[in-house]
Amino acid sequence: MSNISEQGIILRKIPIKESHLLISFLNTSGEKKSVLMLGGQGSKKKIKGTNFLELGQLIEYRCTKSKYSHGNSDLPQCRDWSLVWQHKHLRYDYVKFELFYYWISLIESIIPQSETVSNNDEVPSSIYLHVINALSYLDLITLDLNNRNIVLARMQLFFLMRFAFLSGIAPLTKDCLACGLNFSIKESGDVYPALFLLHEGGFYCKACSTDQRRKDDWIWFYWEWARTHNWKNMENLDDAALWTHMGHGLEVVKNYITHHLNLSLQRLQIQDVSGFKNLP
Ligand SMILES: [Zn+2]
Repeated sequence: MSNISEQGIILRKIPIKESHLLISFLNTSGEKKSVLMLGGQGSKKKIKGTNFLELGQLIEYRCTKSKYSHGNSDLPQCRDWSLVWQHKHLRYDYVKFELFYYWISLIESIIPQSETVSNNDEVPSSIYLHVINALSYLDLITLDLNNRNIVLARMQLFFLMRFAFLSGIAPLTKDCLACGLNFSIKESGDVYPALFLLHEGGFYCKACSTDQRRKDDWIWFYWEWARTHNWKNMENLDDAALWTHMGHGLEVVKNYITHHLNLSLQRLQIQDVSGFKNLP
């Protein structure tokens, strides 16, 4: 019987029998783990700082491999856990909660299940850090009633694009896929890419573009922004006019991720955030 001690973000919880919970975690190695939390529904067990387990919490759990089977796998079984981080405001703001729920549902659906025992001493993975930083940022941000949908949509764009980079599927932004011309931010518009090729994962320059009417440079700016920023400075983008493409930008990145990860958000029953329907 091997012992497991890990930290992870709660992505999903399913009641099992009267008092247990089957929980999916994103652990600090960026892997998804399913764990049976004995007494996790909170009737008897009390943990420090809280008496129930909630989506989005960061938990340290200590388990042993059990004989309890769910599907084809033997689940680790935990009696002992403690709260490491707890969001404070997401439950009380339905628009924040919608975005939060979209993120954890997406991560739960995309990250494959891992059976290996990871080492808690490892450096946290970049995907884990991206998710925990996103939850913390969303929890603490103060939203102005006038622009809350735009601010949340920008966070959604950043979350998805940054996730694409960390997953290794983001488009190549450095140069033209056809002729190798180097794209760079200069005064002259000629060095901007003209055509975004979603399926090929990159851009064509104006000379190589098959459609001379297309001007996809704004998509390139969004990808470059996501590549070069982090959660601390993600508000910054030089050209405020680019934000007028927000609604279209979200569609592009969602199509990009679903194509390159070969999944369907509808089939996974991941509902879009309702406030994003009327964006420009
Ligand atoms: Zn070219």
